[in-house]
Amino acid sequence: MNILIMGAPGSGKGTQSVSLIKRLNIPAISTGAMVRDAISKGSPVGKRAEAFANSGALVPDDVMIDVVLERLGMSDCKDGYILDGFPRTLPQAQAMDKAGIRTDIAIFMDVPEEVVIKRLSGRRVCGKCGAIYHISSLPSKKGEICESCDTPLVVRDDDKPLTIKKRLEVYNQQTGPVIQYYRQKGLLLTVDADNDAESISDYIIGAIGHRK
Ligand code: AMP
Repeated sequence: MNILIMGAPGSGKGTQSVSLIKRLNIPAISTGAMVRDAISKGSPVGKRAEAFANSGALVPDDVMIDVVLERLGMSDCKDGYILDGFPRTLPQAQAMDKAGIRTDIAIFMDVPEEVVIKRLSGRRVCGKCGAIYHISSLPSKKGEICESCDTPLVVRDDDKPLTIKKRLEVYNQQTGPVIQYYRQKGLLLTVDADNDAESISDYIIGAIGHRK
């Protein structure tokens, strides 16, 4: 099953992807993680993406579309995937259709903006293993240190207050129409994402079961 997971930054797409990988046994592909990885390696894609990503803007469509279409063509995606963070613009959605990539369901993680701001500004990540914490809802038992690998936790560059504001503006302007695109195609599953992660995951699994 080819699943898209969409929603504002901080709506919980990443958390749900991780839980769905285990329950559906298909890979999750996060374009945000791909971009961060390319930047940290200093690859050609990373070099083109860096200034956009660090300021909260979207990486240009031509860069993202090529990278994602190539990734979806890899053998681990042949039985389906969860695509987190793509498409984020109408041209990206259209490029998938044009390339003949079928989408079975587009999950929309619906959450009020004030909740998202609270989540993002309290998020801490491990600079080494990528584990995600939150200062109030999911604190590390070791304070500002990662529980798994003892590395200091950091605030992602794009989780700083001004950048959060910019990311939300970009999301409303550019990704809003993409949600509408899948709604019109009858593929959208709207999920109340202001809820605990386990209830959300149960709801998604139930809804997917009904559509199979
Ligand atoms: P995320 O962690 O999903 O919020 O992604 C982090 C950053 O990666 C975004 O702010 C963008 O700069 C870039 N990015 C991720 N996915 C896309 C996409 N589909 N189109 C353009 N830029 C993207």
